[in-house]
Amino acid sequence: MYLKDLGEFGLIDQIKDRFKNMVVAGVEGIGDDCAVIPIDNTRSYVVTTDMLVEGKHFLLDKISPGELGYKSLAVNISDVASMGATPRFSLLSLSVHKESTSEWCEEFIKGYHKLSAEHNILLIGGDTTAADSGHMTISVTAIGEVENINIKRRNAAKVDDIIAVNTLLGDSSLALRMMLEGLTVEPSLMAKHNAPSPCVKDGIWFGTKESVGAMMDISDGISSDIRHICNLSGCGATIFTHALPSSDALKQRCREMNWNEYDFTLSGGEDYGLLMTINSSKFESLKREYFGTLYPIGVITSGCEVQYINSECKTVTQKLGFNHF
Ligand code: ADP
Ligand code: MG
Repeated sequence: MYLKDLGEFGLIDQIKDRFKNMVVAGVEGIGDDCAVIPIDNTRSYVVTTDMLVEGKHFLLDKISPGELGYKSLAVNISDVASMGATPRFSLLSLSVHKESTSEWCEEFIKGYHKLSAEHNILLIGGDTTAADSGHMTISVTAIGEVENINIKRRNAAKVDDIIAVNTLLGDSSLALRMMLEGLTVEPSLMAKHNAPSPCVKDGIWFGTKESVGAMMDISDGISSDIRHICNLSGCGATIFTHALPSSDALKQRCREMNWNEYDFTLSGGEDYGLLMTINSSKFESLKREYFGTLYPIGVITSGCEVQYINSECKTVTQKLGFNHF
């Protein structure tokens, strides 16, 4: 079978299956935003790795080296925070063009250091090689630390939980589409794509809240990401499409270009906010207590179906979010 038919998650399942008999007590491996490795009875490390490949995850002439450095760490820190953990360490592996300049690398490291310094994340190692004729690749591993009782996983959604996000959706993928179509992208929109802010403080805070069930970061788009929560929690979901929060810029651009808003808010990806499920009786008090904005976008249901309902109670069909194959 070709990988394009097997799909990204089919391949991951194939890899996971090969290792299914190797179990280490207390260690949680493939499946969540991070792996969990116990430190002692009360605390754990969480570990994640994400790759950014030129041409696929970034366009070298459309992102500054500083932004690329920042983003490479940000997408990993986002996974750490989504587990309720505090980011502590990172490793950086670079496969760069021989023709790249030391000034380019200096700016890249400056951007990477900026985010590291913001959260006191120590760079403890990595690897460096030349990309030869291939594409530039950046691979980052991030390690966080968390009290075991505060770990949030994808498998903890319960029927009747409210599904919520803490960011506006779609701006990042809108900026990408505009770039690819040669349109001028306003700087605020561009920044959402090129230098996303990981929800570190937010993730750690939600981690301490018992009313939060499942949590993950939004990297592939709500339509894909909610499926991970449903599959691992053994439930379904109804998403109210009229409740998906989006910026005025996105609404306006979609009207002008006759683009489908849901292609960005539901299937766009790279939002790097948090997607979570919250006990419905506690939702209002959590919303009041939260220092950011919590947007309810749906409800967890029994069964396994994910459906999308608009303001007229009609079902909306929606394509899945980002899949690498
Ligand atoms: P995220 O979008 O949060 O980074 P992914 O969708 O990339 O998560 O990955 C889903 C899960 O599969 C994670 O637990 C990740 O560690 C695991 N995974 C992805 N690719 C591989 C691989 N090549 N080998 C082992 N595990 C993998
Ligand atoms: Mg993730």
